Amino acid sequence: MLQQTTVPHATAYFLKFLERWPTVGALAAAPDDAVMAAWAGLGYYARARNLHRAARVIAARKEFPNTLEGLRELPGIGPYTAAAVASIAFGIPEAAVDGNVVRVLCRLRGFKLDPKAPRTLARLRNEAQALVPARGAGDHNQAVMELGALVCTPRAPRCGACPLRKLCKAAASGKPEAFPRAPQRVKPRSIHLVAGVVERRKKVLLVEDEYMVKGHLSVPMFPVRDGERPANVLRKGWERIARRAVTALRPVATLRHSVLDRRYVVSLFTFKEKTPSPPRSCQPEADERSSPIPFPPSKIRLLSPSQIARHPHGGLLLKVLAAWREHGR
Ligand code: SF4
Repeated sequence: MLQQTTVPHATAYFLKFLERWPTVGALAAAPDDAVMAAWAGLGYYARARNLHRAARVIAARKEFPNTLEGLRELPGIGPYTAAAVASIAFGIPEAAVDGNVVRVLCRLRGFKLDPKAPRTLARLRNEAQALVPARGAGDHNQAVMELGALVCTPRAPRCGACPLRKLCKAAASGKPEAFPRAPQRVKPRSIHLVAGVVERRKKVLLVEDEYMVKGHLSVPMFPVRDGERPANVLRKGWERIARRAVTALRPVATLRHSVLDRRYVVSLFTFKEKTPSPPRSCQPEADERSSPIPFPPSKIRLLSPSQIARHPHGGLLLKVLAAWREHGR
């Protein structure tokens, strides 16, 4: 949970997970949907899938790996997490190098390097490893991480309160915040999507997300290429996946949404389908569990807002539903 997320934000989720699944075996036996729903709101859902898969691997092997190599074999465990777990849980003298540690080391040694460059990271890993004591590696790693998080902060390092001050080259320069060099900015990518909301009996048609996060819920959404008309793209896209004609297409709003270096512009419409009452075998289920209905190739579901909240979904779906409530009904 702490990969890409702060302790205050992850704490409530961590406690909830432990209460619900107090052992690795309990988590391994949990249904996918339940784990993803409990994760909803924490973001970066690949971590939830990896955590669940890792629990299943450990439960199948009937033992928790206690070596660096064994930890690295688990889904979702990279060098940093493996080193953090190995040193804190098992006392293995391995340096855990995260963004905070990179910043502290660059300042301590006076390196004005790009902190994201692979060569910088390789060099800093060697530097960090040389500092790890043979005993107490877990405490050492946590101390450096905490120093970076609480004292040697990116914009306003508190050098006056820092135990490394006398050794620190960046502090001696008088401009510690200038270390390391700012990473090269990635040029944002613009992506135009068209999205449509279909309401039936106070519920909304949802499909599996194909553009943001696989496994999330989304309203039907399709990419719009240069020169294409969003309404036409939505009409053709929905007819292709649902095999039903689109009618009463109405523009609602244009939304903007950013994820990392991607800048989405979403043309939002409402629409109806030409056959409002499909044969019973094709009708979306309206029960609380909302099983997928047999529409190839995507799973199409009909869910109320309270049901949506219990399924994995991202911020864009919330924006879409808010705009639809405000302008589209
Ligand atoms: S002295 Fe300042 S710049 Fe150097 S490690 Fe401490 S807080 Fe960071």
